[in-house]
Amino acid sequence: MARYTDASCRLCRRECQKLFLKGERCYSPKCALEKRSYAPGQHGQSRKKSSEYGLQLREKQKCKRFYGLQETQFRNLFDKAERKKGITGENLLILLETRLDNVVFRLGFASSRKEARQLVTHGHFTVNGRKVDIPSYTVKAGDVIKVKERSANSPKFKEIKDMTISVPNWVTVDVEKLEGKVVSIPTRSEIDTPVAEHLIVELYSK
Ligand code: SF4
Repeated sequence: MARYTDASCRLCRRECQKLFLKGERCYSPKCALEKRSYAPGQHGQSRKKSSEYGLQLREKQKCKRFYGLQETQFRNLFDKAERKKGITGENLLILLETRLDNVVFRLGFASSRKEARQLVTHGHFTVNGRKVDIPSYTVKAGDVIKVKERSANSPKFKEIKDMTISVPNWVTVDVEKLEGKVVSIPTRSEIDTPVAEHLIVELYSK
């Protein structure tokens, strides 16, 4: 599958919003958006009024980039959200939040979703005792995500044991054991992703 290989910071600059794609750097003055808070490219600084379609498209792009998905993956997830009972936009965000790579990031085992995806793909985690190396794996309430015993001694995970990690309400983490639990499936109010999901629904409903 084609992957975005250009500079991650360009994506934030395009959306004029921090998407937190580069871990610690995003919280430092080195963040590209702190220095140049306008869209990249020759016409990046010329302000244009967005059309309704433009606003919907930007919201979709922002959400997709926030979670690091490609268009096809994102569209498939939207179709899945549409088939579920309830509000499609909320279903979409819940499906995005419950992806294994996102949960690993939320548990503080990775500094960004990109890193989380790489760690999952490299087989560093188990879910309920079984190795899972699929970033898109959907976790359920009660699932226990743990760093594999062989991986726990790597410098990356040793470092985490000394950290204080704050996690959202719907998960718990035990840094000593390098283990996290999904207490419940998040509700919309527990998801802090700065996205107006109704605009995405409007876009795909055209
Ligand atoms: Fe975005 Fe992080 Fe780059 Fe800042 S440092 S522009 S938040 S990816």
